[in-house]
Amino acid sequence: MTLVGSGISVDIWHQPWIPWLEFEEFRCLMDRVRSSFPNVKSIADVSLDNGSWNIELLKEMFGQGLGERLGRIPRLPTEQHDQIVWKKATDGQFSVKRAFEASQDCDLVEDNSVWKKVWSSKIHHRHSVMLWRASSGSLPTKDRLSFVMDKTCLLCGGEEETAVHIFWECPFARALWFSSQFAIFGGAGGGDSIRGRLQWLIERIPADLLAHLLSFLGCLFDGIWKARNTSLFKGGVPNLMQVREGIMRRFMESVDIMERDVDVAASFRPAVCEEKISNSVEFFAISDAAWKDNRAGLAVGMLDRCNNTSEWYTRQVPASSAAEAELLAIKWAMQMAAQRGTNSFAAASDAKVLIDALKKRCHVRLWPAIACSSLYWRGLHIVVRLKS
Ligand SMILES: [Zn+2]
Repeated sequence: MTLVGSGISVDIWHQPWIPWLEFEEFRCLMDRVRSSFPNVKSIADVSLDNGSWNIELLKEMFGQGLGERLGRIPRLPTEQHDQIVWKKATDGQFSVKRAFEASQDCDLVEDNSVWKKVWSSKIHHRHSVMLWRASSGSLPTKDRLSFVMDKTCLLCGGEEETAVHIFWECPFARALWFSSQFAIFGGAGGGDSIRGRLQWLIERIPADLLAHLLSFLGCLFDGIWKARNTSLFKGGVPNLMQVREGIMRRFMESVDIMERDVDVAASFRPAVCEEKISNSVEFFAISDAAWKDNRAGLAVGMLDRCNNTSEWYTRQVPASSAAEAELLAIKWAMQMAAQRGTNSFAAASDAKVLIDALKKRCHVRLWPAIACSSLYWRGLHIVVRLKS
């Protein structure tokens, strides 16, 4: 909630400033009015030179009664900066606990089952906070900051920076999504909000994978947001493979913690055993790929089972799609194994659809939407074992 001073920094359409409205009510009201007043951007635009409300304009925008009521909202003296306060607290101070309590007792039209899942005890607190920040609109993305003129996404330089864009639709984000074991591609449902999209995913994901998916998303959003901030403060575009590596490392740590604390992953374990590699296999390779702008970052881990050593290789190559990138990674792994003169070789990839297609020798179709199955976890667990 914002206490308005000069109003210059307050985005009138996105940043709550009406004390008696809940966020959803505020958003609905603004969605109705916004398109008729394209020139109004900040609270300063509905203020007079002396720092008071422009009541005539408010009435024009919101109607006679509401306009007058808005004009009675107290303001800070104009020389004071606008202030953001947590309105549920008497001292105005924000805390995660207060946000959580508010999210639990709010009786919005939308059901709050998403929040309950996001704040589940199975998920690391850090990931819950990140998911909550991204889906509650409390990250300062450029679209929410009226004083930022250049709204371009820092990661792709193409679209406007919104939360949905940077976490979902940006090519940078898509490559990270797609190269994960959840292999989720664009075209996901859930509308134009992070919360809606989370809800959409939660409804489709098997219950036993939910905590893993949400933990992964916590790591993913955190990694993307950090990469975005690095770019903002230091310039340049972050290295996709490095960002991916950081995300996957944190995710594996949380999987590890989850499996120690709760038995949530018990259902994956039989699959891991099934995947046991025959003792006669000398080389075992794990391949993976990330793809962006017709460039693929390939990663291959090679385990020499005779000498019990492992090595990791990465390189960039041209590729026309993420599926091709995965295929190139598998091919590269096979080539390296062949160069070592091995007779027995096993490979693992998290690109299940590709592997299935390779086994059946049929054409690979691009993923239309979400492809998620516990089979991906076979690859994941082997990666964990290799790295440790
Ligand atoms: Zn982008």
